Amino acid sequence: MKGKLYIIATPIGNLEDITLRALNTLKEVDIIAAEDTRQTLKLLNHYNISKHLISYHRHNEDTKSDYLIEKLLEGQKIGLVSDAGTPGISDPGEEVIKKAIEENIEVIPIPGACAMINALICSGLDTKEFTFLGFLPLNKKLRKEKLKEIENATKTVILYEAPHKMKNTLQDLKDILKNRKICLARELTKIHEEFLRKSIDELLGEIDNLKGEMILIIEASQNVKQEVELTIEEQYDEYKKQGLSKNDIIKKIAKERNTNKNEIYQMFLKK
Ligand code: SAM
Repeated sequence: MKGKLYIIATPIGNLEDITLRALNTLKEVDIIAAEDTRQTLKLLNHYNISKHLISYHRHNEDTKSDYLIEKLLEGQKIGLVSDAGTPGISDPGEEVIKKAIEENIEVIPIPGACAMINALICSGLDTKEFTFLGFLPLNKKLRKEKLKEIENATKTVILYEAPHKMKNTLQDLKDILKNRKICLARELTKIHEEFLRKSIDELLGEIDNLKGEMILIIEASQNVKQEVELTIEEQYDEYKKQGLSKNDIIKKIAKERNTNKNEIYQMFLKK
């Protein structure tokens, strides 16, 4: 009989944030595949669990997932954990999960902490719909594309960021966010947990003194929502009120609607 692959969420700081089912599963599995075995050992020691650990991280995901699949096909039960939170969410996991599904091996989620969800629910921003973008890419072109996506986002945006890169990311966001609300969630579930619901300028002023793990929750772009709802005529009148020239209005509307400038020009020829 084939084994089972358990995807086990672990705490994101406070060691008490682990479910009874997660602890029982960690005790029952034959092997624990861990992103960082030393980190997982601390958790296991805290709960007096002794288990065979193997490392499974970004740089060996390909080969280690093959090894794990072999063990699963032999009938072993494997628990997959990352350093913190939910595996597969900006953490290793995807690869072995995909391969397990291809082999018809049962994949079982053991729910628990996930940093982005906890940052979102206490941000005070819209939680009905959201876009999780993980970490912004470092590659210039890809980063620009993601920033554009954030600029036009019609849903709340969630970003992970490493502490030492947060200043740079806030600087990149400054130009595109204008007066949109932003919440920086820091050190969730730990002693210094805090939610900074401030303007981006205020955050930039404080960032050098902020330590620990951080997440950004960004309000959806109200402008985009408005533009989608406005007719072309209403959009024209809106820009006219703002004092833009006819030519500039036409260029702006064409760009925003991704339409040919001449088409818009024809519509407003008589205006
Ligand atoms: N798999 C994890 C999860 O379920 O949230 C995320 C892992 S990702 C490699 C690490 C990033 O998550 C950090 O850079 C930070 O943005 C965020 N993060 C993790 N723990 C956090 C915490 N306690 N407080 C704030 N942010 C945290």
